[in-house]
Amino acid sequence: MPSMPDRLTALRQFFYRPWMLAALAAIASAALLLTASIAIALQQMKQSESEQMNAQGERFLERLEQVFGQLREGVDLLETQPLRGCGPAMLTALQQIGLSSRFIYEAAYVNGDVACSNRGDERAFVPLRPPDIKGPVYSYWLNTTTEPDENLAALMLGRGRFLVSTSRGHLTDVVDLPPGGSLLVVLDNGARAIPVLGPPQVWPPPSVWSTSHKTLLEFSDRLIYRMPTKSPDYQLVLIAPRASLPLRMNGALWLLFPGSVLGACCIGWLVLQLAQQRRSMSSELQQALSRGQLQVLYQPIFELDSRRCVGAEALVRWRRPDGSLTSPELFIPLAENTGQIREITDFVLRRVLEQLGPLLRSRPMLYISVNLAACDVMVPRVGEVAARLLALHRVAPRQIAFEVTERGLIDVVVARENLQALRAQGHQVLIDDFGTGYCSLAYLQTLPVDCLKIDKAFIDALGHDAASSGVAPHIIRMAHDLHLRVIAEGIEREDQALLLLGEGVKYGQGWLFAKALTARQFAELVTRDKLPRGRQA
Ligand code: C2E
Ligand code: MG
Ligand code: MG
Repeated sequence: MPSMPDRLTALRQFFYRPWMLAALAAIASAALLLTASIAIALQQMKQSESEQMNAQGERFLERLEQVFGQLREGVDLLETQPLRGCGPAMLTALQQIGLSSRFIYEAAYVNGDVACSNRGDERAFVPLRPPDIKGPVYSYWLNTTTEPDENLAALMLGRGRFLVSTSRGHLTDVVDLPPGGSLLVVLDNGARAIPVLGPPQVWPPPSVWSTSHKTLLEFSDRLIYRMPTKSPDYQLVLIAPRASLPLRMNGALWLLFPGSVLGACCIGWLVLQLAQQRRSMSSELQQALSRGQLQVLYQPIFELDSRRCVGAEALVRWRRPDGSLTSPELFIPLAENTGQIREITDFVLRRVLEQLGPLLRSRPMLYISVNLAACDVMVPRVGEVAARLLALHRVAPRQIAFEVTERGLIDVVVARENLQALRAQGHQVLIDDFGTGYCSLAYLQTLPVDCLKIDKAFIDALGHDAASSGVAPHIIRMAHDLHLRVIAEGIEREDQALLLLGEGVKYGQGWLFAKALTARQFAELVTRDKLPRGRQA
């Protein structure tokens, strides 16, 4: 039965096909872009709905103010003139009011059974019910008829024995009420609402009505536009059911949909190109492995106070047939994805022992450290390969160390087991690039490691005022508390070496001492034994 890591690798290889990756990227980006487009379109539609409501509300308010003003003026004029009763002079006065005010449709005198109106016999005024609002001076009747005739009164104002009304048409000519919408007068501090136009509405609305000071309140089912009035006795309110407003989608928004599909296709195409490029690089790498284009260099590691070389880190290089070098930082991540990294690790181990076997045998304190990838730590394979090669070359296991990065410890339980096995075999285990991953020092305590390699970034910051300049000394102190050795990586200047030495760091590696060397150069350096202080190899 295939093990978990094997299954993971098989899965990764299944998805690591250019077409598969491109299709997945296109589907994911299409879903993302379409969701974003729909969200934007909905947002825009909601906004346009609110804008329409605001505009309608404003137009209504302006018209209502004109209407109320004229009704009040008309009824005041009638009340203050001396005529009473229904004589011809009264009819003329009523007609004059009707003619001089644009918004007064009907003006009437009512006293018990006596009633006359500027509209003559056409429509004698009949008071239908007690006023809806009875103020100290004026009385108001609202929505006095439900008949569809636009001339019939929507709003009636009374003072003394006089009544004036405006027709519904005077309100609806400024704006069409949306179906199911109403214009309401809200009374008694919001407790009662009477429609001036449109059907009665569920009242009161949710509690935000009284607490919010917003003009437009948006609920899931309706929009409520509250118009500020000068009178404290009543408020005017426009209510429209949400879906009744014509939803307008900004023209450019329609482009979002084909745009998203096009965008997704472009992303898919780009991914395809990249994946094919990587695939061709991966097949080139395969050829490089079989044609011996990979080589191993050795960057010496020194004891900082004596400047004696104690070992080296094996670093792989890809020398192309045209002589150009491809950085491991480019092809190692690729090889990790394709699984070719195992071959590379085996190759490095084999090459280290082939090239340096005799040197290591003659100097039992010298060691070479080999970088491991995440998948190397997930299975015991590396230990087996190393054991076979060490036996073949008669080199002691302690002379081969293994470097693992914090990112390489994906499944810590399995990794811990395999690292422990490597240590049990006699190898040293180093944590590489320490400080750049997620490993805390406390967590480190639980890992079977011998040494920390502090990442170059922290060494660069040493002696500078940068916030991270204090990180290296902190790591060093904690590592010593945990009885771990420390190697400082990427030392480029003498002052860094001295500072590190002052902090108690015993070992260092960097261009100050030596760059990565060929096996022969490394062997020469070791046999020369000691590097003069401050001199590069
Ligand atoms: P690393 O293991 O942290 O190796 C140290 C890198 O820092 C090397 O780069 C080395 O040349 C560089 N370096 C050392 N001293 C200095 C210095 O003073 N200044 C500067 N600027 N750089 C310095 P390289 O060889 O390019 O390797 C890059 C990375 O590639 C390595 O980082 C390691 O993660 C990976 N790598 C290299 N060889 C192998 C390998 O055989 N197997 C695996 N799995 N990974 C490898
Ligand atoms: Mg390393
Ligand atoms: Mg490193």
